[in-house]
Amino acid sequence: MGKITDPIYKQVLERNKHEPEFHQAVKEVLDSIEPALEKHPEFVDAGIVERIVEPERVIHFRIPWVNDKGKVQVNRGFRIQFNGAIGPYKGGMRFHPSVYDGILKFLAFEQLFKNALTGLPMGGGKGGSDFDPKGKSDGEVMRFCQSLMTELYKYIDADFDVPAGDIGVGGREIGYMFGQYRKIKNVFHGVLTGKAPEYGGSLGRPEATGYGAVWFAEEMIKARGDKAGIKDKVCLVSGSGNVAQFTVELVNKLGGKCITISDSTGFIIDKAGIDKKKLAYVMNLKNVKRGRISEYAKKYDGVEYYTYNEHKDLKSPWYVPGATVAFPSATQNEVDLEETKALVKNGIIAVSEGANMPTVSEGVDYFIEKKISFGPGKAANAGGVATSGLEMSQNSLRLAWSKDEVLGRLHKIMINIHDTAYKTAEEFGQPGNYVIGANIAGFLKVAKAMLAQGVI
Ligand code: NDP
Repeated sequence: MGKITDPIYKQVLERNKHEPEFHQAVKEVLDSIEPALEKHPEFVDAGIVERIVEPERVIHFRIPWVNDKGKVQVNRGFRIQFNGAIGPYKGGMRFHPSVYDGILKFLAFEQLFKNALTGLPMGGGKGGSDFDPKGKSDGEVMRFCQSLMTELYKYIDADFDVPAGDIGVGGREIGYMFGQYRKIKNVFHGVLTGKAPEYGGSLGRPEATGYGAVWFAEEMIKARGDKAGIKDKVCLVSGSGNVAQFTVELVNKLGGKCITISDSTGFIIDKAGIDKKKLAYVMNLKNVKRGRISEYAKKYDGVEYYTYNEHKDLKSPWYVPGATVAFPSATQNEVDLEETKALVKNGIIAVSEGANMPTVSEGVDYFIEKKISFGPGKAANAGGVATSGLEMSQNSLRLAWSKDEVLGRLHKIMINIHDTAYKTAEEFGQPGNYVIGANIAGFLKVAKAMLAQGVI
């Protein structure tokens, strides 16, 4: 940390006690932007950094609902409207028992810079609940989503704050929330993204985050001088949800091979590769049957399955040898320093973060020190929110673009994000450091908008 940002970081620690994920996300950005602040004293004078680390608004609410046994349940609901300087607040809703202010503040803060990098007019927001959809019936999930929206509708709007999905929130949950919003507000507009195409969703949105992470990896590999990109590369993927599934799909289409996927219980190693047919099985298993990834190993021959730390050497997907690209696509801090070292030792050349902040800070530093092309989540997984931005545009225009049109635009956006991060890193004397490049480029856009709008 530098002399400008150090006291601000200390204040963040003081004001946001017991929120380590938020501290980690702020530290990563503040660590990067000191050179930009030295170049732009007007940002320092206007207190931009003090303001950018403080959410504009934090909303907490109660979500009461009745389970299938007729018993009243109470969950907590949150929406964090972190910064709206460059556009309506935008960011997903996460349903997971671990959800609390610290996780949502980290996600909303990351989202701000990510959204700036897409080049689209979207501010940073995030929300969610400590509700666990696992093991709940469709009826329970619906009643929960309806109760959540009965409160949340007061604070969101298509031109003000547009939530989307995240962990635990897919098409089913978005549908229930949208239905309740429409019923209460008597309007049909794009207040949520990630909708199904039948009622205003964008084609290509389910694919967007995973595809974007693969396109970002492809650009990083090409920037290293390897024009083949993903073709013939063996890849490690974690998670088996939305991001992981479409990461595997595009790697396959580009001629690469994924040999791992995981869930919160364990991971599989399939040396033959998770081909199109096996991926269809995973999609059905996870999206329809809502089963466990261990079932994959029972279904296909030659597949190993382990729970975490069960095997003496292969403690997680990150210890599996023989790969050159890694896509952490499950959750925050899923790659620790020891795993980072294992990846480097096994010859990984590029890491593209499909998840948000999946690598611990020391691991990020290690990758950069070892000259691994490391695409931080706020750049590498920006394809999801970029396509949400395209969904907002289509809703405002009352038009629906073809899948090719959407994915064509997304591909260009990912190339632009890569080039912006790459060139900004070079400009600030850190060639190849996508963390510095993405943080500074995202920061400059938001800071300029905040400066122009005065002290608000
Ligand atoms: P899903 O809920 O569809 O999938 C999450 C996957 O991660 C599941 O396989 C889940 O396993 C696994 N997982 C969750 N927690 C853990 C854990 N503690 N340890 C190991 N595995 C875990 O979520 P998404 O695919 O949408 O999101 C994944 C990541 O990508 C998140 O970090 C999210 O913030 C980020 N992201 C998502 C975007 C999107 O468009 N969806 C956009 C940008 C970022 P299980 O099945 O057991 O629950």
